[in-house]
Order: sequence, then structure tokens, then C-alpha cells
Amino acid sequence: MNGFRQWLSRLMIGRYGNDELNRLLLIAAAVLIIIGIFVPRHWLNVVVVIILAIVYARMFSRNIPKRQEENRKYLEMKSRFTGGAARPGQGKPQRPAGTARPKKQKVEEGKRIYICPHCKGSLQVPVGAGKIRITCPHCGKTFEEIV
Ligand SMILES: [Zn+2]
Repeated sequence: MNGFRQWLSRLMIGRYGNDELNRLLLIAAAVLIIIGIFVPRHWLNVVVVIILAIVYARMFSRNIPKRQEENRKYLEMKSRFTGGAARPGQGKPQRPAGTARPKKQKVEEGKRIYICPHCKGSLQVPVGAGKIRITCPHCGKTFEEIV
């Protein structure tokens, strides 16, 4: 058993591992398996196999940024359903512990991305300042925005 554990931990080096999206997929697979006990359907088995294939493919994937992006999208979607419009500010995606936030397209704390109406470039603006005049760093034009 010890040898198996060592083998497993060596196997997982450089791999993505588990995240919230995988946990959801595993729960979904378990629910489908339970449904399949009561309502045996061939397609249920197929769906379960597909879900488990996705879970394992993601777990052993070496493309970690891509998997983090998928998980981030899932968390964003989830927070839209659970937190949603009633509590703005709660919609920030949570990172699973121990995973680094991807460097690209990072929004700083307390900032939001706005799209320049003139050149459609994106810029980060601090939120909560009220109505402010923003100068676009891309095209130099100004526009007003309530932040
Ligand atoms: Zn612009």
C-alpha cells in the first residue's frame, strides 16, 4: 500500500489534481449512478463514463492554467447562481487553496474592468469612487462612468 501511495504521489507531480469543478462532476456522476440503480438506462451509464473520463483527464492534465481557467469559470457561474444580483461584490471567484492566480488578465482587488467606448480597449478602474472621468490609456480619450 505504501508503494502505491509513493507511486501515486510521483504520478501527480506536475499534474493539476482536484478542484471544485471536479468535485461537482464527481457528485453529478454519483447522483447519476444512484438514479441508475432505480431507473436503469443505458445512456445514464454512458453519461457517467463520460463525466468520469473528464474528471480523470482534468486531474492528470499538465495544462494547469487551462484547468484553472475552467474552474474559475465554473466558480463564476456558481456565484452568479448562489450569490447573484442580490449581493454585489460576492460574485468574485474564489481560488482553491494553494493554487496560484493566473498572471494574465488579473483584476486587482477593488478594481473592475471597463471597456472604453471609443476604442473597445479594456482598462481597470477602482470601484466605489462614484461618477468619475476615465482617461483611456489606449486611445487617450475620456469618458464618464459610475464606478
Ligand atoms: Zn480607448
